Amino acid sequence: MPDGRHSEGPTEKCGVVGVSLDDREAARPLYYALYALQHRGQESAGIVTHDGFQQHSHVEMGLVGDAFDEGDLESLNGETGIGHVRYPTAGSVDSSCAQPFSVSFKSGSLGLSHNGNLVNAEEVRQELAAKGHAFTSDGDTEVIAHDLARNLLEEDLIRAVKRTMGRIHGSYSLTIMHDDTVLGVRDPEGNRPLCIGEVDGGYMLASESAAIDVLDGEFVRDVKPGELVVLQPDGSGFDSYQLVEQDNTAHCFFEHVYFARPDSRIDDNLVYDVRRELGRKLWDESGVDSDVVLPVPDSGRAFASGYAEAAQDEGAGVEFAEGLMKNRYVGRTFIMPTQDARERAVRLKLNPIRDVVEGKTVTVIDDSIVRGTTSTQLVQLLKDVGAEEVHMRIGAPPIVAPCYMGIDMASREELIAAGQDTEDIREEIAADSLSYLSIDAVAEALGESKADLCLGCVTGEYPYDIEGETTDRDVARPEIDGAEAGIADD
Ligand code: AMP
Repeated sequence: MPDGRHSEGPTEKCGVVGVSLDDREAARPLYYALYALQHRGQESAGIVTHDGFQQHSHVEMGLVGDAFDEGDLESLNGETGIGHVRYPTAGSVDSSCAQPFSVSFKSGSLGLSHNGNLVNAEEVRQELAAKGHAFTSDGDTEVIAHDLARNLLEEDLIRAVKRTMGRIHGSYSLTIMHDDTVLGVRDPEGNRPLCIGEVDGGYMLASESAAIDVLDGEFVRDVKPGELVVLQPDGSGFDSYQLVEQDNTAHCFFEHVYFARPDSRIDDNLVYDVRRELGRKLWDESGVDSDVVLPVPDSGRAFASGYAEAAQDEGAGVEFAEGLMKNRYVGRTFIMPTQDARERAVRLKLNPIRDVVEGKTVTVIDDSIVRGTTSTQLVQLLKDVGAEEVHMRIGAPPIVAPCYMGIDMASREELIAAGQDTEDIREEIAADSLSYLSIDAVAEALGESKADLCLGCVTGEYPYDIEGETTDRDVARPEIDGAEAGIADD
């Protein structure tokens, strides 16, 4: 694959949910859960339910609040269902990729919601196309749906899922509806999050635990890497099948740094605690004396509070101040198509409070630098309103390579840290000083070994076999045949 290009098809950077209840309609809980996951995708939203006889589906472009009206929710009958919010991808706004993806076939119906990105979708697509499968989108979710539908013609549900897991490679957290049964599947490396919750009258699956909280549910646990979870259609419980075991996980550290909500719990870590700890480590590694510490809202907040707290623990007279105000109604600057539009949007989005900054030395804390647009603009803005010095501290290592696993990162040519060292970047963004966090500090804050993390975007070495890129591990996979998978008949 050419340098810096995303893998095949549009990447899926999304939120997924699934609900199975005893005697209550699933649509409304799914709708509220999708609201809680809105930060994971704003391009489209969808729900598919099953009433025991047939599927009902409503998928629309736009935000959750705009995609459904009262009538839509009422028409989504059934006590089981899945939902999806899709992240916008620069340039491509394509309703054929909106999810859940549904398909009917000889032995039933399937609905699929996918978060992640396959790295061998094209290969599997071509194989299935050669066997007569017709595809309606270029997304990898449809590839999973067709492969699973095909396997379901020959195998029972568990074996069919296992066979599909042996065929697809890459990052996937899935909620699946097979007739009225809701399933959750997490890829063998556990790249994207997925968790189980108990709610009034049943169980649910969600990308993040915040979606369980909004339904007043109880977090049960994370879905394990390589695990299939089957929710009982009557809401009475769930069954677990460890279908694939891998020596190492490849958890995405960037979920904790940027993508997930701070009030979510992922793989035994509360995201808020991780961000605060990253902030503390940032002070330990590269603390700088200044009058005020300003977070870049919103994701920089927890980092900055950890940083300021660690500074104060050491007796440094650093004051934490909300000196940058964010306009919530400006969309995400990151995905704007042109650099001009991105710069204008940063200015619209962030405004410094002159009185907090004027005549002061300032440390600005952000979670990450991607293209450098935000930091360049911020340094300029803060100097314009009278900051004497502006020091940038970043709660992640330099992002030097693209993400193929489902987070929208720029290509290498656009990444400010690709091919430049920190001093070059400091000069480019015109800060008085600049420091990033080390990779070791990230692993320590997460309590995981580096071998269990996907660090592709900060090392350029990926835990998956991606054409044109190098890998940091043995990615050879055993052939998995559902029929001979050794699954106990129970
Ligand atoms: P940039 O301005 O290109 O350097 O992007 C950095 C800013 O965008 C930071 O303030 C991050 O909080 C935010 N950011 C980082 N990664 C992403 C992403 N994948 N999508 C949207 N925003 C991001």
